[in-house]
Amino acid sequence: MTYWETLNSIVKGVEFVVAGGVCGLAGYFTLLEGLQFIDAISPFNKKVKSQAQLEKVVRERAQKLGLNPNNIDVKYSWIGETYADKRGERDILSLGNGLGCKINSVDHELCHIKNRDCDREESKDWYYYFVAEPRAVLYEVFGLKVGWKKK
Ligand SMILES: [Zn+2]
Repeated sequence: MTYWETLNSIVKGVEFVVAGGVCGLAGYFTLLEGLQFIDAISPFNKKVKSQAQLEKVVRERAQKLGLNPNNIDVKYSWIGETYADKRGERDILSLGNGLGCKINSVDHELCHIKNRDCDREESKDWYYYFVAEPRAVLYEVFGLKVGWKKK
């Protein structure tokens, strides 16, 4: 092989690896989103219909995880989003009245609270997409506690 042929095959190899990586990443995010979508439309996953019901559900499920429900501010939002956050010493769990307004979404957000995902500065970056989010999705959809914090 000449120098150019060698260089050419290296470039082709790199292109192949990059393309594979992009496809893998796209597949990963499709899987993550897809699992949540299937869970959101599943008839086995019950809808949460009111603030009172949400408070009850959070109380029960937080206790099951060893969390103190009194430290969690619960918000049933008619127009807002579903998320977990931290304000000072208090945790916030908001459930938006949309497609994913379901009990399993409460589990998802409680998983973030339990594993202290909201405490982290980098929670919007790689940690969120490759640790916090897949961990919460596995718990939400399958009830699996993969990679949970010990305490
Ligand atoms: Zn999440």
